Amino acid sequence: MDIESLMKKNLSRRDCLELFENEDDFFDIMKAADELRRDIVGDTVTYIINGNINYTNICTCGCRFCAFARAASSPDAYFMTPDQVAEKALRFRRAGATEICLMGGRNPKTDTYYQAELVRKIKAAAEPEGGILIHGFSPQDILTGAENAGLDVRSAIMILKEAGLSTMPGVAAEILVDDIRKELCPGKVSVSEWEDIIRTAHRCGVKTTSTIMYGHIESNEDRAEHLWRLRKIQEETGGFTEFILLPFLPENTEFIRTGRVKGAASGLTDMKMTAVSRLFFKDTIRNIQVPWVKLGVKFAQTCLKCGGNDFSGSMMEDDISVAAGASYGTFMTRSMYEDAIRQIGRIPQERNTFYEPVTGKIRIARTTCGRHDFSE
Ligand code: SF4
Repeated sequence: MDIESLMKKNLSRRDCLELFENEDDFFDIMKAADELRRDIVGDTVTYIINGNINYTNICTCGCRFCAFARAASSPDAYFMTPDQVAEKALRFRRAGATEICLMGGRNPKTDTYYQAELVRKIKAAAEPEGGILIHGFSPQDILTGAENAGLDVRSAIMILKEAGLSTMPGVAAEILVDDIRKELCPGKVSVSEWEDIIRTAHRCGVKTTSTIMYGHIESNEDRAEHLWRLRKIQEETGGFTEFILLPFLPENTEFIRTGRVKGAASGLTDMKMTAVSRLFFKDTIRNIQVPWVKLGVKFAQTCLKCGGNDFSGSMMEDDISVAAGASYGTFMTRSMYEDAIRQIGRIPQERNTFYEPVTGKIRIARTTCGRHDFSE
């Protein structure tokens, strides 16, 4: 394999598939991705202190990989009021969070106006504490909110933007292949709906992340198709801030109970996904995030040597990953991040949602979030 050309060439879908299938040159591929990462973003590894709030667990989508959703009649179903969400966001802000991540599900009682109220209340609560950025509502949440409010997607996004929404998480992408989605998440947005909502957000001036959930029933062809679709959107809009690798966590899911999936992806697959993503996106999507909540700190460090350059967020609470069996914890202090990054010879930099360096007063943490002690 010509490693030099991998670093320079604009890879096609076929090239991408060949890289996924290539086992003989595994370590050469890792090395090429790491060198390319250094050329594109240098040795800095970014991280973000954020707080995740899942405002409801009531969802009718029925995704087969999900261990989080509940029926409205379930005894542990919940649906938070805007005041409850704002109170939790304020605790996270006081603990040092610079971003609140908001995600829900297809709850028939949520609509765009409720979502906008969440945003307004959080902004108002955090304002005296130096303010906060809101990264909220997946394309599925946007569609659910718009449909329940009788709005089109563009109007819904504009209402949320005017309320103070900064960016949107590009989750619910899973694998952008409809045949896979039919089995994986039959009640969720289709490929064209996901892409249309993301393009609309970008055109409205709302940047988003991009994601892949891998290691379940998808093939290498599906992975290549997914990356190719994301790159095409980015070439058109430039609206993706980063690409996030989300390994499927099988524990407690229907897939594992029925034997459809035997277990999580191997560490080698995690490394390969990171490296191929870097080689495929090059500087089109400059930031490749390796989420330590799903991989663990040690393996996230490994993936940072395979093309990754972002250590992801503290989350403080990540009920979706925990429900699916994530067991690495959901928070890290700044010094934990910085030690972990220096340990692999790289330079830590706290960032905000827009990948701007976080400095000054906004960094100050003055209390705990109620569940964890963030004092350093
Ligand atoms: S993954 Fe999200 S959309 Fe799917 S069932 Fe779970 S909460 Fe609902």
